[in-house]
Parts: sequence; structure tokens; C-alpha cells
Amino acid sequence: MRDIERLLAEECSGVRAEEWIEKTDPADDSPVVRIPVTSAEAVSGAVRTARAASRDWARTAPADRAAAVDRAADGLSAYQEELAWLTKREMGRPLDEARAGVAAGIATLRQYAQLGPAHRGRSLAGAWSATDLMVPEPRGVAAVITPWNDPVAVSCGLIGAALVTGNTVVYKPSERTPATGWLLHRLIAEELPDGVLTLVNGGAEVGDRLVREPLDVIAHVGSTATGLSIRRATTTKVVRENGGNDPLLVDEDVDPAWAAEQAATGAFANSGQICVAVERIYVHERIAASFLAELVKRAEVLDLAPLVDRRLRDEVHSQVAEAIAAGAAVQCGGEIPAGPGAFYPATVLAGCTEQMRLMREETFGPVAPVSVVASFEEGLSRAAAGEYGLAATVLTGSLRHAQEAWRELPVGTVKVNSVFGGAPAGAAHPRGASGDGYGYGPELLDEFTATKVVHWEAPPVPQPAPQAG
Ligand code: NAD
Repeated sequence: MRDIERLLAEECSGVRAEEWIEKTDPADDSPVVRIPVTSAEAVSGAVRTARAASRDWARTAPADRAAAVDRAADGLSAYQEELAWLTKREMGRPLDEARAGVAAGIATLRQYAQLGPAHRGRSLAGAWSATDLMVPEPRGVAAVITPWNDPVAVSCGLIGAALVTGNTVVYKPSERTPATGWLLHRLIAEELPDGVLTLVNGGAEVGDRLVREPLDVIAHVGSTATGLSIRRATTTKVVRENGGNDPLLVDEDVDPAWAAEQAATGAFANSGQICVAVERIYVHERIAASFLAELVKRAEVLDLAPLVDRRLRDEVHSQVAEAIAAGAAVQCGGEIPAGPGAFYPATVLAGCTEQMRLMREETFGPVAPVSVVASFEEGLSRAAAGEYGLAATVLTGSLRHAQEAWRELPVGTVKVNSVFGGAPAGAAHPRGASGDGYGYGPELLDEFTATKVVHWEAPPVPQPAPQAG
């Protein structure tokens, strides 16, 4: 495996910058990389570069753009191990899971390379003498601003879709996974004409500067607070895929051990750092005691990877501590362990109420807050409440309850009897505070294009001049 950290250190050694991102490994606090923060002038420069490359890229044949994205996928495949290793080093994800994230990113690039040339408008039924069309056109310059929790997969989706539809891209990866973003940018940009994909590095300040530049579309995957701040900062079109507070509804007729397995997977996978993680659990009173016992049994034996950093751990713990102070009963976990890194144990809390912040907001850590409900209807109405609308899961043997649940839950994705999963190329269409627009699937191509309606008539046939006399 190539030593990317050393390569990056060499590349940055001669750079003069006012600010640096210093990234440490959340498992042991050891330094990983030091990357210069892009200055304000250089952010504007990156957008100007993207603008200058925009016309030619928009005129490049869709098949050629797709071929470049497909070659970029080959480039990522050749560096799969390095990308996975950097992900692990920067955000703590176990190597196997990091590899799966990279594989998902490669598959997404290939998927958009296939879908790009097939993306089309339609012809309209106009008059015989006219041609009436709806033609999707590239928007122009796209800013792609991404999070750290699945850094390769999420970035590849947005970058791939933006490129195949003929946009040039300014990419700002998360400041919490800067080396992963740096390598990803390099591998994709290598296959593209100069200026088609540029990179800016930094945190909120750099992101805020970027979104105030003259752009044609902004795609942000990240927290709701950031998404809303971007929306306020600009009149440019913004696609937002933001946070969630996903409920899990457990009906009275399911096997409590299986339901607990589902709950543990949903709440603790990736140490709870998944946008569609289970964030609050409503369990029917008839099976609540055995469900809780089974959930605790599973949580207690988990040896979780660390959270991305101590800043996130402090936030997670503050929500847990507030809930305990407000009456939640700790079944396991709930304490910051001694020692290096940003570890936090799988935590199960019983007796949680809607007044607690961790039931109303996204926690983004390995926490399973449980609330007992007297009926499926009560659980459904509590699950349907709140400002977020990302996803929800219902576990039930009742066809009627499943039907009611998917109809009633005001979210973009409903899962019945499985916390994760879904078919390839599934889009996501979050509601409320969770976002705006399609973040994935073929529909993302629509977000990166603007439709032009064309009505075209032949000029009138010249009439012969009337003969004199
Ligand atoms: P974040 O919003 O803090 O950061 C995401 C990106 O936005 C980063 O690159 C960051 O630097 C940038 N940013 C921060 N402030 C900005 C500003 N004012 N203007 C412009 N850019 C700014 O989110 P995060 O902590 O990196 O990621 C975790 C969040 O992402 C969670 O809320 C999670 O649910 C969400 N997420 C959502 C999805 C989805 O598909 N809905 C997928 C993954 C993660």
C-alpha cells in the first residue's frame, strides 16, 4: 500500500498558509495529516477556474464525460486500500466498513457513468410544423460540500452526478476527513480536463465563503444547521441532504430478540454516525421488557470504533447527560471512558420522553433511547411527530399496521421489517428539516440540470411575388 500520508506531507511541506487543518486519529489521538486551509482568494480562484472550464465541459459529448467518470472509478479501484485506510485513520471507521464505503463510491461513479448519457428530456406533442422539446442542460458550476461519516461514497455520488450532466465542480470535503478528500479529488481530477474538478479545503468558514461565490448549484450533505445556513446565505439552488431523527416503531406481535437485533444494528452501526441511524425507539408495552433486556444484552458486548472526534463525543454525551438528568434510566453505557481517543460506549436509555433533546434532535452517536407505548397508534403518532423527515422503520407482523405506517410517516424513506437495506439506485427525498431535493439515484441528475423548453418552427415558405398585369 502506498504511503499517502507521507506523500501528502511532502506535497504540503513547501506550502505557506495562514491556517492548517490538523487531523488526528480518533482511536489514539496520533497526528494523521496537516493540510493548508484554502484562503479566501483561492476559494474565489477555484470558482473562476471552474467557470472557465464550464463551457467546454458542457459541450463535451455525454458519452465522453461518462467515459472520464468511468476511468475515475478505475483510478479509485487502484487506490481502494489507501482510501479505506485514510478513512479509518481520519474518522475511526473499522477497515472492513471503510472498504465497503469505498466500494460503494466506486459503484456509484460507475452507475452515474451509465446513467449520464441515458439522462434525457422529452419531446412534446406540438403542431406538425413545429418541434417542441424539453431539454436538460448542465447548470454550470456546482459546489459539492460533503460530510465525513461516509466520505468516499457520499462524495462520489454528488461529484459523479454533477460531472456526467456537464457541470464543473468545486469540491469541499469535510475538514474532519481532509486527506481522504484530497486523494479522492486527485484520483478523479486526473481523468478530467483541467479545471473541471477543483478542491478547496477547510471548515465552516471556507464552506460559507464558497456558497457566497457565483455558483449555479450547491449540493450539501451534512447537518441540518449547516444546510439551513447555506440556504440563508444564497439565492442559488441548493440541494440539501441533511440530518435525521429517525424513529423505530416496534409492534406487539414481533419477536423481541429479533427486534432488539434490528434496533442494535440501527442505533450502533458506524458507532451511530449514519444519517439514517435509529435515533428513537417506540416499543409496544406488551413486549417492552423483553425487548429492552435483549437490546441491553447486545449493546453490552459491542466493542465500538471511536466517534470521529471528541467534539462530537462531547455533544453526544451532553444529550445523554441531559436525558439522564431529566429522568431517563441508563440500562448500559452513558459514560465517557478513560483513555485516549474519542470512544463512546453503546448506550441504552429507558423511560425517554419527547421533552428530552435526544428524542427531538439528531444525536449522531451510539445511543438508543427507548420509550414504551400503549398501542401501535400511539407509537405511530409519536414517530410521525417532529421537525425531521429523513427515514423511519417499523417492525410489525401486521399488514394493516405496515400499510398505515408507510402512508402516515412524513419522511422520505420508510423501511418495513429491516432497519437498513434498499435497492440499488434508490433516491432519497427528505422532508422538513432533513433536506430538500433528491440526493441520490437517477433523480439526482435532474437536480444538476436545468430544463429548457424549446419551441421551434420553420420560417414561412416564401410566397412568389404576384405577377404584374
Ligand atoms: P456539517 O454540516 O457540519 O458538515 C458538512 C460539510 O459542510 C463539511 O464539509 C463542512 O465543512 C461544511 N460546512 C459547515 N458549515 C458550513 C457553512 N456554514 N457553509 C458551508 N459549508 C459548511 O455535517 P457533518 O458533521 O460533517 O456530517 C454529519 C451530518 O451529516 C449529520 O447531520 C448527518 O445526518 C448528515 N448526513 C446526511 C446524509 C443524508 O443523505 N441525508 C448523509 C450523510 C450525513
